Amino acid sequence: MDRVLVTGSSRGIGKAIALRLAADGFAVVAHAVKNEDAAAETAAECARISGQPEQKPLIFDVSDRAAAVSAIEADMAANGPFFGVVANAGVTADAPFPILEGDAWDRVIDTDLGGFYNVLKPVVMPMVSNRIRGRIVAISSVSGVVGNRGQVNYSAAKAGLVGAAKALAVELARHRITVNAVAPGVIETEMADSIEFKDEVKKAIPMRRFGRPEEVAAVVAFLFRDEAAYVTRQVISVNGGLC
Ligand code: NDP
Repeated sequence: MDRVLVTGSSRGIGKAIALRLAADGFAVVAHAVKNEDAAAETAAECARISGQPEQKPLIFDVSDRAAAVSAIEADMAANGPFFGVVANAGVTADAPFPILEGDAWDRVIDTDLGGFYNVLKPVVMPMVSNRIRGRIVAISSVSGVVGNRGQVNYSAAKAGLVGAAKALAVELARHRITVNAVAPGVIETEMADSIEFKDEVKKAIPMRRFGRPEEVAAVVAFLFRDEAAYVTRQVISVNGGLC
């Protein structure tokens, strides 16, 4: 049984990734920070789809290092190491730079980038020592690839994730563990609900529409396949041609 932790899988892109990996037979461990019931629903749905034993969802704030380590270590002690992790949980706190407050900077950096370290640090060594030829995927953003107005904090965190994933890919290549980043454009989720002037934004996208969570999940699922064993240290965009 190959277990995969998908952070932030109570809704949105993370949930779509969880369901898609379940369809490919993985035993998905769902995760959320607040929406425990929704994470439990994802876990139950994944078990139904995959035919694997239902995995207890993990509930912790990815920006809280101690909480992340203790929840993940307790889970691994009971259920064994992970085959893979999708570091998907993330937040935005947008503002033009002149009025970007320190706490909005800290919250986005600590969650979107800090979460990568806090979640992967306890997971990676057990993968290596158990000789698991696993998969790590970080969900970045077009904002981290090109930089986006009003998102200096988020662009910094998401660009940081790209660097972190590429460096970890080099370290883990000899262990046959791949590490990649997936960079979505604008995807129809609660996070994208707050976008003003949606029609204007769509005009800037060559495909003239927002993406669907399932379209991101399909790319992540590819990276988890045996056939993708030679794909590592890459950033794969899913953005309708936005950049
Ligand atoms: P949503 O806001 O719909 O869902 C966010 C998920 O992350 C939820 O499961 C939420 O849990 C969890 N989460 C939020 N904060 C924390 C935290 N501090 N600790 C643990 N879990 C947390 O987001 P999307 O599905 O839209 O986005 C998923 C990822 O994709 C994010 O990293 C985002 O930056 C990235 N992305 C999204 C794009 C978009 O257009 N939607 C575009 C590009 C990238 P809970 O339900 O408990 O709150």
